[in-house]
Amino acid sequence: MIAEKMKNMVANSSAIRAMFEEGNRLAKIHGAENVYDFSLGNPNVAAPEAVRKAVLDILEEEDPVALHGYTNSNSGYADVRQAVAESLNERFGTCFEGKNIIMTVGAAGGLNVILKSILNPGDEVIAFAPYFGEYRSYTNNYDGVLVEVSPDTENFQPKLKEFEAKITPKTKAVIVNTPNNPTGVVYSEGTIKKLAAILEEKQREYKTDIYLISDEPYRELVYDGAEVPYLTKYYANTVVGYSYSKSLSLPGERIGYLVIPDEASDSEELLAAANVATRILGFVNAPTLQQKIVARCLDEKTDISYYDRNRETLYKGLAECGFECIKPEGAFYLFVKSPVENEKEFCAAAKEYNILIVPGSSFACPGYVRLAYCVSYETIVNSLPKFRELSKRYF
Ligand code: PLP
Repeated sequence: MIAEKMKNMVANSSAIRAMFEEGNRLAKIHGAENVYDFSLGNPNVAAPEAVRKAVLDILEEEDPVALHGYTNSNSGYADVRQAVAESLNERFGTCFEGKNIIMTVGAAGGLNVILKSILNPGDEVIAFAPYFGEYRSYTNNYDGVLVEVSPDTENFQPKLKEFEAKITPKTKAVIVNTPNNPTGVVYSEGTIKKLAAILEEKQREYKTDIYLISDEPYRELVYDGAEVPYLTKYYANTVVGYSYSKSLSLPGERIGYLVIPDEASDSEELLAAANVATRILGFVNAPTLQQKIVARCLDEKTDISYYDRNRETLYKGLAECGFECIKPEGAFYLFVKSPVENEKEFCAAAKEYNILIVPGSSFACPGYVRLAYCVSYETIVNSLPKFRELSKRYF
């Protein structure tokens, strides 16, 4: 008999699996090139050439026994952590040291490590809808309670009044994700400053520590010169979770890091807790080869022009069909208003045209659908006549 807590999780994940299987089924019937699968955030851009070179060089140059062994510290290789800290300091004018960096198994691993480190049962974690649905599962892993701030469907910036009202003495953390999955919105500097001021005030009022967790897998994926504020500079009690899954197209390799600055509350204890959490969650340490690779590729970037072309083409194409959507400044998602109230009906209708999209309710924002445009350009171009046919049912 599986655990009670897992029953819901299994039920929810079968919905995602069902979509995946549906994609495969449709591909078998119609041919993969005639299925327009916008459901997954799996980059279709190859990792930069420097990654391949780094793999080969490391295998040639490093002592294989040490390379494939456990790391001395569960937080990662000291030289890799130092290199990451220096790169951040150079880019953002911060003052991190190697000890402030914990290498993680992607952003997902990092979020689990930090939540494991800070949550007592019943502690609250606030997230702004729409948000990455896994935040609920990760919070639940440690018996925390996810508290949702409703979406501002005008511009998808956080609703700060509601946020303020939802902070309680039990609030332990707030997760922000900018550039955002699923909207592609970048939170403005003005928004971040106001959010930080509210948190400072509430920490004083309740005499508590409220950690701001900045979940940043899409930091490098921005368009039209959009700036993504570095949150440790606005609020001392910030922990950053970064990932190379999208920035270097390495999602399967499972590599990222947490930044726990000296300014964060109980920073030393928190660093020690994150080290132990990495071990006892069963990660033990982030993959060693991957740590070495990213340390050699800190200045490398994915081909942002590839995503930008997809963004422009899909956004324009959908707008011409009559669909409504705000133009994303980052990540690789479009969050489109469903032309019917129940967006699941719209997703089912889209499937009749071999278009696979994800209902907004998976991101706590019903009435919208998410399209991941990290697909081939051909998929985008070939999908547009299908979207046109689909649109005729509504407009
Ligand atoms: N956070 C957000 C907002 C994401 O969209 C994702 C993956 O899509 C993750 C975290 C997990 O990323 P990773 O592959 O680094 O674990």
